[in-house]
Amino acid sequence: MTLHDRLFIAGTWRASSRTASVHDPSDGSVLANVAIADDQDLDDAVNAAATSFPAFAATPARERAEMLRRAFEIMSSEIDAIATIVSQENGKVLADAIGEVTYAAEFLRWFSEEAVRVSGDFRASPSGDKTIIVTHDPVGPSLLITPWNFPAAMVTRKIGPALAAGCTVVLKPALETPLTALAIADVFDRAGVPPGVINVVIASPAGPAVSRMLADSRIRNLSFTGSTEVGKLLIRQSAEHVLRTSMELGGNAPFLVLEDADLDEAVRAAMVAKLRNGGAACTAANRFYIARPIAAEFARRLADAMTALRTGPGLGEGVQLGASVSVGERDKIARLVDGAVADGGVTLTGGVVPDGLGAFYPPTVLTVDADNPILDVEIFGPVAPVVAVDSDDEAIRLANASAYGLISYVFGGDLRRTLAVAKRLEAGMVAVNRGVISDPAAPFGGVKESGVGREGGFAGIHEFLESKYIGVEL
Ligand code: NAD
Repeated sequence: MTLHDRLFIAGTWRASSRTASVHDPSDGSVLANVAIADDQDLDDAVNAAATSFPAFAATPARERAEMLRRAFEIMSSEIDAIATIVSQENGKVLADAIGEVTYAAEFLRWFSEEAVRVSGDFRASPSGDKTIIVTHDPVGPSLLITPWNFPAAMVTRKIGPALAAGCTVVLKPALETPLTALAIADVFDRAGVPPGVINVVIASPAGPAVSRMLADSRIRNLSFTGSTEVGKLLIRQSAEHVLRTSMELGGNAPFLVLEDADLDEAVRAAMVAKLRNGGAACTAANRFYIARPIAAEFARRLADAMTALRTGPGLGEGVQLGASVSVGERDKIARLVDGAVADGGVTLTGGVVPDGLGAFYPPTVLTVDADNPILDVEIFGPVAPVVAVDSDDEAIRLANASAYGLISYVFGGDLRRTLAVAKRLEAGMVAVNRGVISDPAAPFGGVKESGVGREGGFAGIHEFLESKYIGVEL
């Protein structure tokens, strides 16, 4: 597969006078030097999305569905090649990357099926004086901004519904992981998506590129996945033209284990919930609230399982935990753990940055008190702080004492009791007796400062549709 390193604008690959290096975080080597968009490139990308919009919006849903279906088929036949790019630029192990690209492709299949199922409304008004017709129309050219932690899935989770709805897009992927986004643009190109419908620009987050595009009133919708901090900034910028926004932001997932839970199952699921993507997931279990009678045993078994993991380069044989995306990100994790220990946490395993090349951090389990500051922040690494709690009520209170509300996990033996706890958790998603629940067919999203809107499921396409009411004298 060609490694694309240029911008994709109006159906052509475009070089630039400025480039930025993309690194393999497992050894710091340079994978590619990607083109950085200048003002003209950004304007051209927005222009391409705006000028191709009317024809694309008017393209029959069946044709748009078939483009998505072809893209799904191409992507599915190239999973290993795309996953290799994901693993190299992100650091995650190949098996994780294959899982991600498979999941990413499924969004294209799901939305190819959704494209033809958008329904409207036709009914008499209750007063009987008119007929109410409601249609759902594409919102318009959309700016999509994606993070580095799932460089494939976050892209298709947005482009899938955008195209299904009839919207054109400018995608700005994370600067750390642009190669996957460019590879996916190539998939869409080969699937026959018309020029200008999908444009990919690469830009530094420190520069004015995003503000420039948001200042163009032809952009009508912003779909962002990333940190809460940047999300808030972009919501403020989106106010200027009163944009539709969809915000998939940070998380601080609590993982509750009630005392009647199957401990083996809970530890197995905790490993998945904690270590998917090396812990760099918005859905990663970030705080473990365990019933006191089983807390020490849970922490010991989790530490044993974590210690047994083999850490190394994502493409390495038998490696189970890869590198963080950069040394800077790894150092953030190390500072959080050092702080937690200074505040009284006890390390059961890990906790020490290894010598040598690469952005590696070891699998780490800590026991901490409920007021340890590490419980308030997204760790984004393979670190599990465990807290003993005295009741379901205390676990729920602590779980809900967060500005975030993306996902929560709860484990218990008695399903009625476990579901009663699940219902009281303030989160957009709750996993019951499972370590992972993400599914293209289900609505993904958070409450509180974890975001606004839902991706996937039946709701996902509506982030790219606007309803229009037509009142008719009939
Ligand atoms: P980030 O917020 O730093 O960056 C996300 C995107 O925004 C990137 O493309 C980045 O280049 C861009 N960006 C950064 N600063 C910007 C600025 N000032 N103006 C405009 N654009 C800017 O997030 P990240 O570090 O790439 O990703 C990790 C975060 O994403 C975590 O908080 C994680 O929880 C969150 N996330 C959420 C979901 C979800 O679905 N809720 C999924 C994956 C990741």
